[in-house]
Amino acid sequence: MDILEKYRPLVERHKKMLELGQNAVGLRMDDVYSPTRARIDGKEIILAGTNNYMAITFDPACIKAGQKALEDYGTGTTGSRIANGSYALHLDLEKSLAGFLNRKHSIVFSTGYQANLGSIAGLAGPRDTVYLDADSHSSIYDACALSGARLIRFKHNNADDLAKRLRRSSEDEGGRLVVLEGIYSMFGDRAPLREFVDVKHEYGFELLVDEAHSTGVLGANGRGLADEAGLESDVDFVVGTFSKSFGAIGGFAASDHELFEMLRFAARAYMFSASPSPATIATVKEAIKQLESRPELRQKLRHNSERLHHGFKSLGLELCCDVPSPIIAVRIADEPTAVVLWNRLLEAGVYVNIALPPGTPNGVCLLRCSVSAGHSEQDIDKIIALFETVVLSLPEALQD
Ligand code: PMP
Repeated sequence: MDILEKYRPLVERHKKMLELGQNAVGLRMDDVYSPTRARIDGKEIILAGTNNYMAITFDPACIKAGQKALEDYGTGTTGSRIANGSYALHLDLEKSLAGFLNRKHSIVFSTGYQANLGSIAGLAGPRDTVYLDADSHSSIYDACALSGARLIRFKHNNADDLAKRLRRSSEDEGGRLVVLEGIYSMFGDRAPLREFVDVKHEYGFELLVDEAHSTGVLGANGRGLADEAGLESDVDFVVGTFSKSFGAIGGFAASDHELFEMLRFAARAYMFSASPSPATIATVKEAIKQLESRPELRQKLRHNSERLHHGFKSLGLELCCDVPSPIIAVRIADEPTAVVLWNRLLEAGVYVNIALPPGTPNGVCLLRCSVSAGHSEQDIDKIIALFETVVLSLPEALQD
């Protein structure tokens, strides 16, 4: 049997998408002008689906740091740090990052996906149990599969359900690792961290929080949800990415645990993959400085998020989360309608994400916006106006 035969249904699904417009899951940007503008199909478009929360992808100091590292250290590291050694840049970055996160140890990975794979599958093994929020990111699910640990899912953001499952499995051998996210990537909702920490105190487990979408965004120091909630000492392991607020690529894990450094020898995604490039590392190091020294970016992001959330609510759109965050997802009735609306929004001048099953919780279809500190108030108002014209012109789009 042809091993690719199983792709036939996917081909059909893709064909239907192309009959309704352009390739919504393979968009081409011909030029990127700024964190919030690109040329698509010959037109300047507002970007509202990039996760570029702090808008520092074009920051002159970050670019200069990246250029200098390219010149000083070359284009790539050509190997893993275990086999080929670390550059001073990697060690410097880990020191800065540990300082920024107020943790004793930090380890840098080549992507956020690998940071989850390396951390979760490095920490948990076949004798351990990992408790996952049902809406966890795919990298977290993949990490569990790789770990060989027993996987127990609890209802999304439901600390009581976690407690129930912990009670049922209290006889288990091995360690218990609970994994949460600071801000969930599809709906933009936050974990009720206080409730989970109360369960932690009652039942005992180790807690890992993926702050991919909340680092830089939440907390007085921009360290994420645990920072905002004043609960950092209850979180044993923090994981995150450099591909959002840091405006680059890469990922990290951090902890105060005395044995944490040994994760370097247990995390396959760290051991068996090339380390991040010099330009990336230098860019991220500069980005940390920006996050530390420009709290106004966080305030601007919050302002923009609240403005867009309020505007969408006033239009009567069905939002996935009542509390504003930089991720604002609008629920759409079905896949063809979502595809049509996505195309019309793009034609009208705004790029948002289309999010479809199986990438979404509960099989919902979404038009997902991510807000940036780089958006002006006029940008936000324009996005609201375009949703009004495009989405409200198709009232059935909102019926489920
Ligand atoms: N964790 C979460 C919650 C994410 O949303 C993502 C990516 N969107 C990742 C991890 C992976 O990060 P990266 O894209 O840097 O690999």
